[in-house]
Amino acid sequence: MHFEHIFRSLVENTNDVIMVLDATPLEQGGPYIVYVNPAFERLMGYRAEEVMGQNPKILQGPDTDDKTRYKLRQAMRAGKSIRTQILNYDKFGNELWLDINMVPLFDEDGELAYYAAIERDLTEYKRLQSHLENMANTDSLTGLSNRQSFMHRAEKEFSRARRYARPLSVVMIDVDHFKSVNDRYGHAVGDEVLRQVSSICQCSLRGSDVLGRIGGEEFVVLLPDTPPDNAIFVAERMREQLEKTPITVEELVIRITASFGVASLIDADINFNGILERADVAMYHAKNDGRNRVKSAA
Ligand code: GH3
Ligand code: MG
Ligand code: MG
Repeated sequence: MHFEHIFRSLVENTNDVIMVLDATPLEQGGPYIVYVNPAFERLMGYRAEEVMGQNPKILQGPDTDDKTRYKLRQAMRAGKSIRTQILNYDKFGNELWLDINMVPLFDEDGELAYYAAIERDLTEYKRLQSHLENMANTDSLTGLSNRQSFMHRAEKEFSRARRYARPLSVVMIDVDHFKSVNDRYGHAVGDEVLRQVSSICQCSLRGSDVLGRIGGEEFVVLLPDTPPDNAIFVAERMREQLEKTPITVEELVIRITASFGVASLIDADINFNGILERADVAMYHAKNDGRNRVKSAA
């Protein structure tokens, strides 16, 4: 068997996508596709003759990252190899995530002659990755942000508020006498009550507000761009909604209330935790004052 034959059947039989581009400079509309293997045709949905002489830009689309495109262009200009991940689109417009490995091919005189791209489909892997990320950030009972993801978001909003001298407020929520709900109706009903509590609270909020579940029956709301008075108003609205909305679980009708603590960013704050702690203290004042009420930090 000749090596040439071996190489040809390797390229034609591999499951990795192989695409060869010529060295026509960007300024002249290049590079142009001069070869694609059968794995390319299978994955991208194009027949080889449809893409011959085309610019590989035809594989990119609205959500292809500009930084990645730039990185690829820079590497090609410099005649260097590059490995990265890129979002491409098949002939029918379906998104495809690819691991792309570009290597320059030089002729006998050492001149850059071609670029070979060896690509692997990462679409399933990316889907799994984003699914796992979602799971890691989401409270599975309510679908809200969990503590970790809430805190991450809150620290970001804290920095933003500091940088632009914007107000920022927080509302801590703790369901009143929740243990007795579990004791009377069982844990499963308790869980359903928590789900409904979260959607009642969510209904009183704007899209930019972030509701998280940071403990068993403890919720917290991050209110960007919101000064203390408005935050108290929002908390009061949630308190009223919870008080007046009967929660029904099968034939049961359960009434619950919650205690609220409100705190806002002050000059002395060096991180988000300070605000959260003041909101927590205020919430305990609301408990001690008889529950079902809103208290704000001094
Ligand atoms: P209060 O806050 O008004 O002082 O009384 P409480 O009974 O709500 O307070 P406590 O914090 O002592 O009890 C909270 C209870 O919430 C304890 C636990 O049984 C229940 N709980 C915590 N997490 C969950 C959960 O995920 N599902 C259910 N069903 N119950 C939970
Ligand atoms: Mg509690
Ligand atoms: Mg409680």
